[in-house]
Amino acid sequence: MRLENQVAIVTGAGRGIGHAIAVRLASEGARVASVSRTEANARRTADEINAMRADAATAYAVDVSDHPSVQLIGGRILEEFGRIDILVNNAGVTRDGLSMRMSVDDWDTVLNTNLKGAFNFVQAVQRAMIRQRSGRIINISSTVGLIGNAGQTNYAASKAGLIGFTKSLAREVASRGITVNAVAPGLIETDMTAVLSEEIRKNILSKIPLGAFGQPEDIAGAVAFLTCPEAKYITGQVLAVDGGMVM
Ligand code: NAP
Repeated sequence: MRLENQVAIVTGAGRGIGHAIAVRLASEGARVASVSRTEANARRTADEINAMRADAATAYAVDVSDHPSVQLIGGRILEEFGRIDILVNNAGVTRDGLSMRMSVDDWDTVLNTNLKGAFNFVQAVQRAMIRQRSGRIINISSTVGLIGNAGQTNYAASKAGLIGFTKSLAREVASRGITVNAVAPGLIETDMTAVLSEEIRKNILSKIPLGAFGQPEDIAGAVAFLTCPEAKYITGQVLAVDGGMVM
């Protein structure tokens, strides 16, 4: 098992892409902290992993945008697992709408969850990684953060912000043996994209050279690669996993 004795935190592990990442890292031997906003969802993923391998996962319910609570949970995870090797900042939300009509609340919710949430978890774990002189941090951005999208100024800003955050943090911690990368999914079939109309889906599909939407497992595979020894010389990068939509 490649990730035996390693501990991974996955935020937004309750559903969709985060669930696939948590299960994939666990299947390679990692012990997993399954973090989600809704306790039942975090627990469902942890239970699924524990059914695969006893005591391999624990569930934690926290709102990633809440800095003090995230510091507490980070401390508990460190206490309970003893170390932290991998942090996947995956929790994210959309609140779409044209900028002209966007409420301040919709702007704040998206930025606070998608961007500040990642900062919060990095602050909670980076001291432990620095002490270990090793770690892998992976931030789930989006192709929308690379090219923008009408109706998603808040979401695109948060995802582009994550790319700047990734590159700056990568420079800060490289000398401590920690790599920081971003994965930018295209359209992946989850609850988040299930709400899109047939017309929008058709339009997006026509722009995907590989001719299909992605599955959560496609993102989990890219994240797993970035945790491999083979990826030890990769940092500050954005890996698009989008069927060729953005190239
Ligand atoms: P999803 O199915 O809607 O799942 C989102 C997950 O994030 C859920 O587990 C949710 O928790 C968690 N979450 C949301 N807000 C949170 C908060 N404040 N605190 C803690 N957890 C929170 O979304 P997804 O499609 O899997 O997306 C996962 C990530 O990939 C997101 O960052 C998204 O922006 C990014 N992404 C997705 C796509 C796509 O096409 N699906 C494309 C590009 C990027 P609960 O389950 O507890 O509610």
